[in-house]
Amino acid sequence: MSKKDRDDSYKFDTKLLHFGAEIDEGTGASSVPIYQASTFHHHDIFAPPVHDYSRSGNPTRQALEDYIALLEGGVRGFAYSSGMAAISSALMILSAGDHIIATEDVYGGTYRLLSTILTRMNIETTFVDMTDLDKVKAAYRSNTKAVFMETPSNPTLRITDVAGVTAWAQEKGLITLLDNTFMTPYYQRPIEQGVDIVLHSATKFLGGHSDVLAGLAVARTEAIANELKKLQNGLGTVLGAQESWLLMRGMKTLGARMAHSEQSAAKLAAWLTNRSDIDAVYYPGLMNHPGREIHESQSTGYGAVVSFDVGSGERAKQVLNAVKLPLVAVSLGAVESILSYPAMMSHAAMPQDFRLDRGITDGLLRFSVGLEDIDDLIADLDQALAANR
Ligand SMILES: *Cc1c(COP(=O)(O)O)cnc(C)c1O
Repeated sequence: MSKKDRDDSYKFDTKLLHFGAEIDEGTGASSVPIYQASTFHHHDIFAPPVHDYSRSGNPTRQALEDYIALLEGGVRGFAYSSGMAAISSALMILSAGDHIIATEDVYGGTYRLLSTILTRMNIETTFVDMTDLDKVKAAYRSNTKAVFMETPSNPTLRITDVAGVTAWAQEKGLITLLDNTFMTPYYQRPIEQGVDIVLHSATKFLGGHSDVLAGLAVARTEAIANELKKLQNGLGTVLGAQESWLLMRGMKTLGARMAHSEQSAAKLAAWLTNRSDIDAVYYPGLMNHPGREIHESQSTGYGAVVSFDVGSGERAKQVLNAVKLPLVAVSLGAVESILSYPAMMSHAAMPQDFRLDRGITDGLLRFSVGLEDIDDLIADLDQALAANR
């Protein structure tokens, strides 16, 4: 068997290291070569090369695309210049006049795309509370074509019943899409539940080092893969060879990073829950987290993101100024912890009343737990909270 043959039989942690392209066939090099070329010579004009132009196909990007397809258990993967490029390209599968049902607490950028850009193309979206399957069903119209899920959602980590929504969507002949950024295939593989297109901001946990912007999509069927291929090539939203390599470099340690960060996140969530000066803590691993049982039926872990409400916007800003360890920034899913302020950062595009209705209050902070010693992270947050009661 060639190293390049895909092997689905290995356990997930093994697949992360042995994904088929980990050894260069020609030279034995220990990582995929970066094919920094825009075009490829036709040695024989009657037998064109496999890759002829890097927008249509590049060997480094191909290795990454095969890698994510293997991890998610899909038929084919696609790599894009950002998470939003992946999401917007995948949604181009729809046509004018089509209708989408989307979870009301989608990522802010996806909300902006659906509510201000696709509307201009006469593609309308109904945002629903996807924790309630009846509300999803009630949003159905004769022109509904797709359902867009994100679970756990950002930043209050609400849970969608993926199998429930997908079974209903399949009955209705709808395409299902799921943004799997928060769990990654390490903890959640939605294609196994029947989801048609899995999407990622690979900028987050998959890359894992806050140094690459990238997006990925994986198709469940050949028919969907053919559509995504046409769209990726036609829109030109591809990921470059350097970034493709860097992303694979990060993905090799996904398992180790996720497992470590999750342990720390559970500790942080428990510590926050025991404090009297915190109004709410959101973490799917907490016993009282709404949807915890559904989450456990479709995921093998709880992830590394903990959100909590410090009571007011004033206090949130003071805490952000007082912490010493986490990066205070937009984004998540990195080796270093990142503390962000959804109301002013990721969800600033959302109208205020819509945002507040979704529990994204002015006092809400989102902690993406990195690989620092958790005791140091907790001590740091403790001093920041104590200074600002
Ligand atoms: C960051 C993010 C995106 C957008 O990805 P980019 O790489 O920033 O374009 C989409 N969905 C979720 C859940 C995200 O966290």
